[in-house]
Amino acid sequence: MLAAVCYPPRCPVCDGLLWVDERICGAECRNKLPEIDGPRCLRCSKPIENDEAEYCYDCERRQFHCERGYAIWRYDKVMSESIARFKYKGRREYAAFYSEELLRLAGDYIRRYAPEVFVPVPLHRKRMAARGYNQAELIAVRLERATGIPSIRLLRRIRNTLPQKELNDKDRMKNVGAAFALNERRLQSLGGIPDSVMLIDDIYTTGSTLEACAQVLKDAGVQRVLFLTLCIGRGF
Ligand SMILES: [Zn+2]
Ligand SMILES: [Zn+2]
Repeated sequence: MLAAVCYPPRCPVCDGLLWVDERICGAECRNKLPEIDGPRCLRCSKPIENDEAEYCYDCERRQFHCERGYAIWRYDKVMSESIARFKYKGRREYAAFYSEELLRLAGDYIRRYAPEVFVPVPLHRKRMAARGYNQAELIAVRLERATGIPSIRLLRRIRNTLPQKELNDKDRMKNVGAAFALNERRLQSLGGIPDSVMLIDDIYTTGSTLEACAQVLKDAGVQRVLFLTLCIGRGF
């Protein structure tokens, strides 16, 4: 556990030091997590103001390749800072807390849809080399350990796109178009196209990244594509 001594684990909420077995400081930090309660969109799970509506504004007016999705937290200041440290400051240990919370709060959703495989949204190899890890995969492999549903790198990112957060809605769609392809080698080891896939990522904002992934999977013959993310942006 030399790594734990040199790099003691930190709290995903306040980034304070933790004891080795802790995942979060305690009630004070836990209470800051923006758990989604109340009405949600039936497709993407985004919180919606109007509890008469079944779908959010986006899902009402657009067709999606992802049939259904679920997120556990709102993408507020606490979570945007937490995820930024997870992705850009090397806080890989957050994956343990994040995946435990996904299992606790989205366990029913995973069981209900029982996907054949989890597929983490891939990074381009250049970004992967620079970062040293794919944050979505850190979560997916923990979900695999807990559920027995394998995490498979079924997709490759073939274009090194701009970070989505730097773009507006329309440019996001263009930016990720044709950015993904099937990972043929993994597909061979899997022995064929799975019937159902649950994509794993950290955030759902406009959904354009997950949609670009889902389109590749659907075109390859996957019947049902679902997603599971930590956070989701606001609905209208
Ligand atoms: Zn804390
Ligand atoms: Zn929606």
